[in-house]
Amino acid sequence: MNGKRLLMMAAVAGLGLLLSNVGCRKKKIESAAGKEFQWQIDQFADLKIMRYQVPGFDRLTPRQKELVYYLGEAALCGRDIMFDQNYRHNLTVRRTLDAIVAGYTGDRNDPRWDAFMTYTKRVWFSNGIHHHYANDKFIPGFDAAYFASLVEGSPGADFPLVAGQKPGDLVAFLTPIIFDPAVAPKKFTQDPKQDLVAASAVNFYEGVTQAEVERYYDGIVDRSDETPVSHGLNTRVVKKDGKVVEEVARVGGLYGPAIEKIVFWLEKAAGVAENDHQRRVIEALVDYYRTGDLEKFDAYNILWVTDTASHIDFINGFIEVYNDPMGMKGSWEALVNFMDREATKRSEILAANAQWFEDRSPVDPRFRKKRVKGVTAKVITAAMLGGDCYPSTPIGINLPNANWIRKNHGSKSVTIANITYAYDQASLNSPLTREFAPNDEVFERARKYASIASDISTDLHEVLGHGSGQLLPGVSDDALKNYSSPIEEARADLFSLYYIMDPRMVELGLLPDPEAAKAEYDSEIRNGLQTQLTRIEFGKEIEQAHMRARSLIAHWVYEQGKPENVITRTTRDGKTYFVINDYGKLRRLYGRLLAEVQRITSEGDYEGARNLVETYGVRVDRELHREVLDRFARLNIAPYGGFVNPVYRPVVDNGRIVDVEVDLTEGYVEQMLRYGRDYSFLK
Ligand code: ZN
Repeated sequence: MNGKRLLMMAAVAGLGLLLSNVGCRKKKIESAAGKEFQWQIDQFADLKIMRYQVPGFDRLTPRQKELVYYLGEAALCGRDIMFDQNYRHNLTVRRTLDAIVAGYTGDRNDPRWDAFMTYTKRVWFSNGIHHHYANDKFIPGFDAAYFASLVEGSPGADFPLVAGQKPGDLVAFLTPIIFDPAVAPKKFTQDPKQDLVAASAVNFYEGVTQAEVERYYDGIVDRSDETPVSHGLNTRVVKKDGKVVEEVARVGGLYGPAIEKIVFWLEKAAGVAENDHQRRVIEALVDYYRTGDLEKFDAYNILWVTDTASHIDFINGFIEVYNDPMGMKGSWEALVNFMDREATKRSEILAANAQWFEDRSPVDPRFRKKRVKGVTAKVITAAMLGGDCYPSTPIGINLPNANWIRKNHGSKSVTIANITYAYDQASLNSPLTREFAPNDEVFERARKYASIASDISTDLHEVLGHGSGQLLPGVSDDALKNYSSPIEEARADLFSLYYIMDPRMVELGLLPDPEAAKAEYDSEIRNGLQTQLTRIEFGKEIEQAHMRARSLIAHWVYEQGKPENVITRTTRDGKTYFVINDYGKLRRLYGRLLAEVQRITSEGDYEGARNLVETYGVRVDRELHREVLDRFARLNIAPYGGFVNPVYRPVVDNGRIVDVEVDLTEGYVEQMLRYGRDYSFLK
């Protein structure tokens, strides 16, 4: 399976320098917002918490607002699922932390309390005890004795005690889980030398080895099936009476109590759907949730991808497989949104020209799609984030993931404008670009063009990149195994990088002039070689698929361009910079690498994928890493961001919802405690 989600890198990529010439969409939000709106509301560890606005919500009809409200409730009801999927004891940890925050009667001015709150906020942010991005377990800045004193000092708190358990037993149970670095050290591992299943803390498997999981799926997957279900997407593989079996997520099954609530709200949503097609989409999803039948999930996806008329849309289910070392199990996520019509026009221009780009793509013609089909292009406004999309959220999404559905029925590709905008606003004055730009020219170009260039590059990646190319007959979706996600992200990135420099972009009115494309190249090189290293702990390697893709691309073109001096590495005042000397030659290098990555994908060349990713995408130059981290530390910027959701309050008259009010003032701690209280349905 391929990862098809674009994550926001603005904080690190230094894209946050907002420009004067960006389209009306952004201006409009700005004037509605006024100056006093506080975009960033908290910062701790390596994280910052922001708010997003929901421009256009007030222009929805009362019935549309009601629909958003119901879908939003459904989006929140699966929060526990994501915690449990990440690690089997996460819910017990979170409930214990919640209970202490709500009930501790001791001294909250103790510096250790601050450390406790930082740890708790990190657990909330990561949906568990492992870093949401780096996957390592993070260790609290307070000790086990203090933890015990917090539990003891919270009399009457609502601790998650099992039958006969006392608070002291809970402390004994949780202490190694929270404090021992050797217990569940990684959310998941991609190290091919390890048993990927046994060495990963994720809760998709229990009591089984990688070999057993592979044998199990070899036994049920029919490789000749041209429309296969997404095997294992909504299940947990366990051993029962010595036999490997799957537990299926559904009403009455795995995660049943949470799924029942989701279904409750979805059924309400179906009652106020915008049209018949959308009602059938929602009903098909309910049908799938009731049965856990993956054929029904496909039926739902086909209905969903062909609903292009509705103004409001949503995702709710087990979708992306990044968190599974075997690349099969979907993490539960939700997103409620509605269309941003003006900004959508921009990506519609790209979609309308999809065949033009495909036909000229610098890859072997055998790997091109003869007919690029069903590439829909939308810019959306997020209204509610849930599960794997909360609080850390993607800025673009391209679904469904099943390749045969994409091929036969198309895919939906969206970029999330109000989230990108919030990132831009929150980092308006980020000093990162200044620090790593090699000269004033690059810096000024970033100020002027980085935001529009980044919007267009996101569109290219999502609207065209993932949808381009085809597999040769007989090549399976998962031929690249653990390397499929970084290779797929590299493919989409390269398609974007190759075409953003094409004169066609200016001809189509998408970029103001060719300088804008240069700004994107500056940013990609800076990010792939330097700034994204701020997200990696010293001594560690690169794990995350998008980061591996970015590193792979930047290091490959840097090395391949050496004979012609395409990119120079220089040092000034002990600081390293990378200067692009020839943007045209760099574009040709991107084209060459695109051809190779497409070949690897189309042929299912596992060795080729492994070689590229391991050579260019994984390893970190220690000396340069140290320097980047030191420079970054002096800037005091949080490398990762996430968002609190708005609060939607229905206005009821005579038992009917006549309006829905949006409140953007809820704080991070308040929201997390409220979610823990009101949307927690699993044991
Ligand atoms: Zn992507």
